[in-house]
Amino acid sequence: MYKKTVRDIDVKGKRVLVRVDFNVPMQNGQITDDRRIRESLPTIQYLLEQGATVILISHFGRPKGQRNLEFSLRPVAERLAQLLGRPVQFFEDCVGEAVEQGVQSLPSNSVALLENVRFHPEEEANDPDFARALANLGEVYVNDAFGSAHRAHASTEGVAHFLPAVAGLLMEKELRYLGQALSNPERPFVAILGGAKVHDKIGVIQNLLPKVDKLLIGGGMAFTFLKAQGYEIGKSLLDGESLEFAAQILTQAGDKIVLPSDVVVAPVLEPNAPTQVVPVSQIPKDQMGLDIGPDTARAFGEVVRAARTVVWNGPLGVFETPPFEQGTRAVLHALAESGAVSILGGGDTAAAAEQLGFADEMTHISTGGGASLEFLEGRVLPGVAALQDK
Ligand code: AMP
Repeated sequence: MYKKTVRDIDVKGKRVLVRVDFNVPMQNGQITDDRRIRESLPTIQYLLEQGATVILISHFGRPKGQRNLEFSLRPVAERLAQLLGRPVQFFEDCVGEAVEQGVQSLPSNSVALLENVRFHPEEEANDPDFARALANLGEVYVNDAFGSAHRAHASTEGVAHFLPAVAGLLMEKELRYLGQALSNPERPFVAILGGAKVHDKIGVIQNLLPKVDKLLIGGGMAFTFLKAQGYEIGKSLLDGESLEFAAQILTQAGDKIVLPSDVVVAPVLEPNAPTQVVPVSQIPKDQMGLDIGPDTARAFGEVVRAARTVVWNGPLGVFETPPFEQGTRAVLHALAESGAVSILGGGDTAAAAEQLGFADEMTHISTGGGASLEFLEGRVLPGVAALQDK
């Protein structure tokens, strides 16, 4: 770990401003998955044990710089209080006189959550005055929001210029697992890429290809590669703009890239639609490929079982709609059995592992979708770059 963390700095008796990622899924004011809140607990608890007063800031949704209570973090404060087993004071804004005074008079060693930082347009504009106003609330800044670290916003990047700035424990964990996989993986090192669009993953493919021993490609994105190889793909997903890239990378990759040999097709994407398993050379014109086939699942499973490190981004089929989750399940099963270091990135991949019951068997499930992709692309994340070096 090349960045200072909360363990490298004295926080006793200090007001510590902690950027967390509480951008949780919510329906009708109810939190439907509190994983992101739970993931922030180690840092909060560590700071409390060290005698700090914890002031949390986060964004939630896309209120577009307007105060819109549909995007209020108040329900999160309530859930956090339950999880911590202690009160969490909620502030109705994140800057301004009332907040400044309120924060000054917080009981020492207590926890507060500020209202959605994106109620202010200055947040996403990374306005320096706004960043300074946030910084004035604390004496130390901790960034534990890996999921937002690819954005140079006031609360993720700007504020770090005005306070001693270090990583939280979740941020540290993310950087350790993802960083280790990229810089010094135990081999064989295998990457699995799936999901819908090739375009989003071009940077990842380019960065990972020289580093991995094998790159397994499934999901909707595989069909663009199959098309580039000259196969008829019927009504399957095609990312036409990425066809040329797919053709080039296949030539460059030799036998490093493994594509599906068979697929599950259906005439429509509907739960329990009539399905057929076909070799990739026989995809019917009027059908679409919605999952990898059983031979492919076996072949991918074998590669994964022999691996020591696996990085996975993107489901191998439309796992949300049965029975197109079977390929993803088979490969998750192989991964759980392999004993390899398993690192899953991206919201859909995490959701698939959770839904199919394998989440607890993975080494690390990244909390960052876009951030983990950018990290795997080899890009510097501004929210990380702004933290103090060790
Ligand atoms: P992405 O955000 O690019 O990782 O895409 C994730 C989405 O890809 C998930 O919602 C999956 O349902 C979808 N997906 C996976 N396999 C396929 C497929 N064969 N055809 C269409 N969509 C797919």
